[in-house]
Amino acid sequence: MGRRIEPVCRLCRREGIKLFLKGIRCSGDKCAIERSNQPPGMHGGTRRLKLSDYGMQLREKQKTKKIYGLLERQFRVFFSRAARKRGVTGEMLISLLERRLDNVLYRLLFVSSRAEARQLVNHGNVLVNGRLVNIVSYLVKPGDKIELKKKESLINRVKANLEMLQDRSIPGWLVLDKDLLEAKVERMPTKADAGLPVEESLIIELYSK
Ligand code: SF4
Repeated sequence: MGRRIEPVCRLCRREGIKLFLKGIRCSGDKCAIERSNQPPGMHGGTRRLKLSDYGMQLREKQKTKKIYGLLERQFRVFFSRAARKRGVTGEMLISLLERRLDNVLYRLLFVSSRAEARQLVNHGNVLVNGRLVNIVSYLVKPGDKIELKKKESLINRVKANLEMLQDRSIPGWLVLDKDLLEAKVERMPTKADAGLPVEESLIIELYSK
């Protein structure tokens, strides 16, 4: 799989919003956007150009890809799946992306970033319905039970994250037992659950050309 080598804060500065890519740092005053919300570039990018329709559509797609940490090819696969589903394609796309296992761990506040979630899954620390799942793009569904391996260091790390991130809330489609560190998927996530700063209809327009 390809790897992103650009510094992540630069990605936020290019979009002009916080994409929450760097864990706990994103909530503090060390966040690059909090310090100076200027586009990256040699001359400090002192202004943002007015975008064409295509430019706006492209930016919405790039923003969404970056938030979920996906490459273009992976994002297209999700779009194709969403387009085949009944319902509003943009909303289906967001729902599918939210159901990814790495995103679920992030939403449960087990980790402070989706990148940390991917590491947790890749290292074989996550179980779904009692079976180890090491595929970050695994899609959870209503009724699924998500838990962690019973390793002391892991449990302590996750509890520390839950404590640190307590000002963020867990979306209503997930229910967490904080003592057992076990979660259940109550229902499918909606666009409103995701609360993304993204206009997904522009992404649909872009791919419909
Ligand atoms: Fe983005 Fe987080 Fe860096 Fe702030 S600290 S610019 S939100 S990645």
